[in-house]
Amino acid sequence: MNEQQDKPTTICAWCDEVLENGGPDVSHGICTACAEQFIQQLDLACPTRQRHALPIAS
Ligand SMILES: [Zn+2]
Repeated sequence: MNEQQDKPTTICAWCDEVLENGGPDVSHGICTACAEQFIQQLDLACPTRQRHALPIAS
């Protein structure tokens, strides 16, 4: 009868923020704040997106 028990609880894998309340099963996702940080780190880690801003060894 409790529909929330049918789906897992989704928490952010980075900061453990609860994204969606559900049953005892836990699924990992990512919240918007961590997603933005993650994208920024990807940009920093990808030399092709940088214009010689960092001395990245090749
Ligand atoms: Zn998060």
